[in-house]
Amino acid sequence: MEGIGQKTEVDYIFDKTVKCDVCGREFKTKQVRTGRARFIGTDDILKPLYEGIDTCKYDIILCPHCGYAASQRNYGHLTSKQRQAIRENVEPRFKAKEEETEVYSYERAVKRCKMAMLTQMVAGGKISESAYLCLKLAWLYRGEIDEAKKYGVPGEYIQMYVRYENEYLEDAYKGFEQALATEYPPIAGMDEMTINYLLASIAVNLGKNDEAKKYGSAILTSRNASAKIKNKTRDVLEAIKKN
Ligand SMILES: [Zn+2]
Repeated sequence: MEGIGQKTEVDYIFDKTVKCDVCGREFKTKQVRTGRARFIGTDDILKPLYEGIDTCKYDIILCPHCGYAASQRNYGHLTSKQRQAIRENVEPRFKAKEEETEVYSYERAVKRCKMAMLTQMVAGGKISESAYLCLKLAWLYRGEIDEAKKYGVPGEYIQMYVRYENEYLEDAYKGFEQALATEYPPIAGMDEMTINYLLASIAVNLGKNDEAKKYGSAILTSRNASAKIKNKTRDVLEAIKKN
């Protein structure tokens, strides 16, 4: 039940007009009003948490004409060669016309994120960026699990979402591990300690306890790691003992 004056998801978003960086056509995309949603913090796998809205659903910009999709951070950062590759390989495969809805459902947000993944593959971006999209998909399934529990969705659906969350966490883990070995920080906008933390935390979630300890101790013994990230690392390693 919504109380009087209580905000709903619609109050936190607005329609923004964007000109597609690939096909040049205009479209509307829903975005979160900055400053309206209150930031609570991040969870163990760094999913940003806000009061009243899951902002993760609104991070991908998708052109409904040609299918080019990317996260807000990466949108439009393309070379002419990448634009051409997207025009040749994404547009012909893109058929899914979205129905206009007031808010984005998790199902729709997942589809948008998968289009960003396809764009990423076709454009030949960095491993870390693909890993980050996998992490985003895991964040979306986490949100879907919470929503499903709230609305009493049958258990088999929840189990399916949990399975998807773990599959994408596994992909994100492999990708970030590879990125750490082959790319210079910032990696997908994160410093080296944050990537180590993420690997430790994802490893805990996947039951890879030895790997979690390896990445965790790299943080705890580092002079470059902040007290904040060390505390967060201790918290996730603590979860191993409880399992
Ligand atoms: Zn387009």
